[in-house]
Amino acid sequence: MLYPTMMKFILLMTIIVGLYSCDKPRSEEQVAPVMTLLSAPRVENTVIKGEVKRGQGLYQALKSVSIVNSQALKLINELRDEVEFSKLKVGDRLVATFNESKQLINFSFSQNSVETHVVTLNKKTGKWDYSLNVLETSWRPRLLEGKLRSGSTLEDDLIATGLERSVVNEVVNVLLCKVNFRMNAREGDRYKILLSERKHKDNIVGTKVLFTSYSGTRAGKHEAFYYEDEEKGSTYTAHYTESGQALISSGLRYPLSRLHVRSSYGWRRHPVTGKRAMHRGVDLRGRHGAKVHAVAAGKVVISTFNKFAGNKIGIRHKDGSTSFYYHLSRRGVSVGSWVRSHQVIGRVGATGRVTGAHLHFGFKKPNGRWMNPLNKRMIATPRLSGQRYINLTHQISMHKGTLADLEISKETKYLVANLQHFERPELTYKDFSLLPRL
Ligand SMILES: [Zn+2]
Repeated sequence: MLYPTMMKFILLMTIIVGLYSCDKPRSEEQVAPVMTLLSAPRVENTVIKGEVKRGQGLYQALKSVSIVNSQALKLINELRDEVEFSKLKVGDRLVATFNESKQLINFSFSQNSVETHVVTLNKKTGKWDYSLNVLETSWRPRLLEGKLRSGSTLEDDLIATGLERSVVNEVVNVLLCKVNFRMNAREGDRYKILLSERKHKDNIVGTKVLFTSYSGTRAGKHEAFYYEDEEKGSTYTAHYTESGQALISSGLRYPLSRLHVRSSYGWRRHPVTGKRAMHRGVDLRGRHGAKVHAVAAGKVVISTFNKFAGNKIGIRHKDGSTSFYYHLSRRGVSVGSWVRSHQVIGRVGATGRVTGAHLHFGFKKPNGRWMNPLNKRMIATPRLSGQRYINLTHQISMHKGTLADLEISKETKYLVANLQHFERPELTYKDFSLLPRL
């Protein structure tokens, strides 16, 4: 009697294990038949899951979950008022459910792990019913602060706290607008980061970096505040200094794939004339024919030949500054054209008054003065002004309030702990009067 029972059990387990393995994500879209195990007539609904991939448009993404163009059109019309399809991005998830006659009966679309837009075919009316499923979440503040130890970097320290890579990148990129970590980070530099974490149960489903500060002997003191524009999806939503300067480090990249400074900015003896002269740029080592990239997006304002600079290109950027590239063997862009950040604009050469192939890279401030291009940290976007600036100041005072609350509660915890137990060794004392006051 035991034997057939065992067999049934093994059979059932095999089916369950089989079903579970269907749930494992496959590299491409996954196809999992949904069926009820025990009821006799099997429901032959087919669920197809997909993700928006790089370079895919909406129709291509829908096609990847077997939704044909005629259906796609209806769906898009149905969801038009609810979903911003123009903001389609890599990783957005789509799920389509088809019945046994291959009719689409349910479609869901989510751009984050919290909200899912769902349309279901209503069998009675034959129309689509829309619903938005939102997970219950709450925003919680979290304060991270510390000091750089010998040999550590801010990036390493933040990763060690278990923060998600994208959040670490956001913090570092904001500070990079102001701090040259490679040159000026020192042991003992202090940082403080205020996050707002969106939680569903114990999972973090979203993070906002509300405040970041960094201070050091070489780096100076820098603070950045998150500003959220009233208009949803606005490009004004970003990090700013207290005075309203945007900190968007989409800014400066390097003009060559490798950065090796052969001759730096400032006074020097000219390699050809032998006279003392101001070198208004840096000479970067580069082999003849190597690609030269635009350091930031902008408009080509110079593309010409000059007997000193040789083949020369100048690009004006958003903040009114101009980058210059001299001695090129080839120029790939003409005056008036727009270039993207990192677009190839020419090739390294030895044209003009030079001793050998290299790239002379120069930079002019918006006021027309030359500056050391290696000190240029970012291309500034316009400051916030008017109502937006007023809103920024309100948001800054809210962030500061949250910070103060967290610090008071930490101080209280410390005091309470010390009243109860003298010298608890696991508690590290922090002198709050030494921390930079906000
Ligand atoms: Zn030069």
